Amino acid sequence: MRSVGIMGGTFDPVHMGHLACAEMARDACGIDEVLFIVAGNPNFKQGMQMAPASERFAMVQAAIAGNDAFAASDAEVRREGVTYTADTLLELKDADPTAELSFIMGTDALLTLHAWKDADVIARLARIICVSRPGYALGDRERARLARAGFDVTIIEAPLLDISSSEVRQRVAEGRSIRYLVPDAVRAHIQDRRLYRREEA
Ligand code: ATP
Ligand code: MG
Repeated sequence: MRSVGIMGGTFDPVHMGHLACAEMARDACGIDEVLFIVAGNPNFKQGMQMAPASERFAMVQAAIAGNDAFAASDAEVRREGVTYTADTLLELKDADPTAELSFIMGTDALLTLHAWKDADVIARLARIICVSRPGYALGDRERARLARAGFDVTIIEAPLLDISSSEVRQRVAEGRSIRYLVPDAVRAHIQDRRLYRREEA
C-alpha cells in the first residue's frame, strides 16, 4: 500500500524547518511520498496579510524541485472559499482509496488539532505524525484530549530547527539575511518578486 504524507501549511514562505519536518517524518515512518499542500484561504488566518497563493505555491515548487519523494499540490489554492483540511483529505481518499494517509505537522499545529473543523473526519482518514517544534510542549492533558478526539498520533524525535515563516518575513522586511534559513531558490524568488519588503511610505 502506498503511504502518503501530507504536509499542509501556509508556506509564507516555505523554509528549512518545513522541509526538515517533512523529511524526518518520511524517514521515520516509511512514507513513499510527501505532498505539500499549500493553504489557499485558511480559516485560522482570516484577515491576515499573506503573499498571494500563486507566489507561495511557486516557492514550494522551487523548494522541493529535484526531490522525487516530495510533490506540491495546489488543490486548496484552487478551491473556492475558506479551505479545510478535512475536505482535502476526503478528496485525496477519493482519488486513491487504497493510499494510507498521514498528516505531518509541528507541535504548534498539533496543540490546536482537536478544534479543527470536522476533526472526526480528519481522525478517521489520517494518522497524525508530529515533529517536535521548538517552543511548544505536548503535555498529558493535551495527549488525552487528542486521544478522546480519536486521533492516532505518532511523535517523532528529530533535530529541531527553530525557524518560522514569521521570522523569515520579518528578516526580509528588515533587509537582513535569510540565507540558509530557506532554500536558495526560495531566496531568489523572494528577491525577484520583491516579497515581504517593508512598504516604503
Ligand atoms: P508562520 O510563522 O507564518 O505561522 P510557520 O513557520 O509556522 O509560519 P506554517 O506554514 O504555519 O509555517 O506551518 C506549516 C506546518 O509546518 C505546521 O504544521 C507547522 O507546525 C510546521 N512547521 C513549521 N515550521 C516548523 C519547524 N521549524 N519545525 C517543525 N515543524 C514546523
Ligand atoms: Mg505557523
